[in-house]
Amino acid sequence: ERKVLGASAKDLTPSYDWFQTDSLITIVIYTKQKNMNAELVIVDCQEKRLRGEIIVDEHSYLVEVDLDHAVQEDMAVNISEKVGKVEITLKKKDKINWKTLGRPLESHNTFVKHSDRGLFYRKCKLVSKVEVTHDTKLFCLMLPKSTRLHVPTGQHVYLKQIIAGTEVVKPYTPVLPFLPLDFKEPSHRDGEHIYLMIKIYSCGLFTQALDHLQIGDYISVSSPEGNFKKSQVQTSEDVFLLAAGTGFTPMVKLMNFALTQVSCVRTVKLIFFNKTEDDILWRNQLEQLALKDERFEVQFILSQPTKDWVGKQGKISPSLLSEFVKRNRKDSKVLICICGPTPFTEQGVEYLKDLGYSQEEIHAFTA
Ligand code: FAD
Ligand code: NAD
Repeated sequence: ERKVLGASAKDLTPSYDWFQTDSLITIVIYTKQKNMNAELVIVDCQEKRLRGEIIVDEHSYLVEVDLDHAVQEDMAVNISEKVGKVEITLKKKDKINWKTLGRPLESHNTFVKHSDRGLFYRKCKLVSKVEVTHDTKLFCLMLPKSTRLHVPTGQHVYLKQIIAGTEVVKPYTPVLPFLPLDFKEPSHRDGEHIYLMIKIYSCGLFTQALDHLQIGDYISVSSPEGNFKKSQVQTSEDVFLLAAGTGFTPMVKLMNFALTQVSCVRTVKLIFFNKTEDDILWRNQLEQLALKDERFEVQFILSQPTKDWVGKQGKISPSLLSEFVKRNRKDSKVLICICGPTPFTEQGVEYLKDLGYSQEEIHAFTA
């Protein structure tokens, strides 16, 4: 038994092979993983450069070559989830025999800690920009035809722009195009677009430049990152989401995931902190969802309300938390996610610990 385990440790390194027909090049990656899925496979083919990355827990396997000859823009990526095989099929531009797959690039055929790889960017086209509130917009970016990338729930991407001659990089958390109300419809996960809900700050370096992008312009988008694990939700009965301002963004996919994919979830409660009513993101959609799905509840808390606000007011505090974050039963399995300005998140975590919630029951989204 031991011997087998010892031997398998080395064998767990993925490997690849390639073959060709007159018109096609097929690269097969044997991931040696049983639960492969689209979120673990990132493929980019830019001109003659092919990059295929497979995420295996904390590690990543890379196939990265300068292809021997030119290929067409459209490609196919097939994943055999159970077998753990990933097949990338490229169309040759010219029907000639390739002597090699191509020239290996520096990180080709390596299996290293995911965090040790630099960020990889591809240029995405801005296809729409829609107002969400007075200062926040929903940006829709289109991935290149020859990119396969899915941003997992709870993860973010980095955007990169050259501003006044300097490269500037900032993280943003993809959302859905809207909150699906009818969960029977397949959710809008087309895999071709990335939706970002971004607050434009009047003095913000990056967001001002972003706001000046025109439809049709391109911006560099990185592969996803983040330490949130979906399994944290998969075992939860009651999910509490504490969001402040744009700290709402990771909650969008999370809510959707909890309500559609997790059968043990009984309640999903969003406690949404904003300055004023006008700042509340997707208020109407959230209220609609609360009406439609009895497991979902939303509570708005304003820190600078006008006189006519009859709802809750204040900032995050032990008393607000003890009022809104409650175990349904003594031994309910709860998950509390928190995201917002750093002081909000840090205070929130402290207060939650004081209220008796454990580290394992809390996930804080931070930089
Ligand atoms: P900056 O130039 O950095 O300034 C922003 C504003 O804050 C300006 O008005 C500035 O005057 C003020 N300011 C700057 N520093 C301070 C300070 N120390 N104290 C007080 N005020 C200050 N944002 C989104 O809108 N949507 C998202 O989905 C999103 N996801 C994120 C995910 C992660 C993991 C993280 C860490 C952040 C995320 N953010 C998101 C925030 C985003 O990365 C940027 O910080 C934000 O867009 C501001 O960038 P900026 O360059 O425009 O602003
Ligand atoms: P904002 O200034 O409009 O404030 C929204 C609410 O946050 C306020 O009403 C208040 O209740 C609370 N708040 C603000 N400052 C506070 C403080 N010092 N102490 C306690 N509570 C406070 O918020 P915004 O401009 O939308 O900023 C959202 C923040 O969320 C940004 O800092 C952004 O970087 C962060 N964010 C982080 C992630 C992540 O780490 N994954 C994702 C998205 C957004």
